Amino acid sequence: MRCVWCRNDVTADSGISSLFMWNSRPICRQCQNLFHSLEKEPICPGCGRLMEEETLCYDCIRWKEMDSYFPMNQALYHYDEQAKEFMERYKFIGDCAVAFLIKEDLKKVLKKYIKQGYTICPLPTSKQSLEKREFESVEYILELSKIPYQQLFQHIGKGKKQSEKTREERMKLQQPFVLKEKVKLPTKILLFDDIYTTGKTIRLAAKLLQDKEIEDIRLFTVFR
Ligand SMILES: [Zn+2]
Ligand SMILES: [Zn+2]
Repeated sequence: MRCVWCRNDVTADSGISSLFMWNSRPICRQCQNLFHSLEKEPICPGCGRLMEEETLCYDCIRWKEMDSYFPMNQALYHYDEQAKEFMERYKFIGDCAVAFLIKEDLKKVLKKYIKQGYTICPLPTSKQSLEKREFESVEYILELSKIPYQQLFQHIGKGKKQSEKTREERMKLQQPFVLKEKVKLPTKILLFDDIYTTGKTIRLAAKLLQDKEIEDIRLFTVFR
């Protein structure tokens, strides 16, 4: 059997003790703590990014100047080189098995939100991306982690993918979502996406929930 990340054979030399099985997908010892957890780090309270000290980052200050509607984001891991490689393999190559690497940590933190009454609401993938990759990459992470969720949105955006754009192009992004017809909105919502880069995508989704008499809206991304 091979590790889902490094593909090293995890059975040959060291036997079953070196295996860490998560739903029967092997992850070798070196790959178990692949990502930089933000749990105990100083972060920006606005977007969840890693900081030297706990204070609002420059991007969030600018955001708040533009828009007083500013739900807070929490992120699970720092977006470093490993994380970049992960996103590349998961999203763009379609290597679904690597999602097993984040599943346990994610489950732990999202369960806390569920306990507090939040409904997890993932962002949908665009039609063009679905045609290329053929799977809902954000929803799939939740399904794998056995986290219940509700899809509130429909993706209506066209054109280039967010990941192919420059920062300036990203900030100009038009609303790519609409609320689904006849959708019943939960009282507390946690919007969920894979990565927070400029925050534009997830904040546009949140914008659709402004003035909808929702008790609380928070944002959550796997990486920041
Ligand atoms: Zn490995
Ligand atoms: Zn920030």
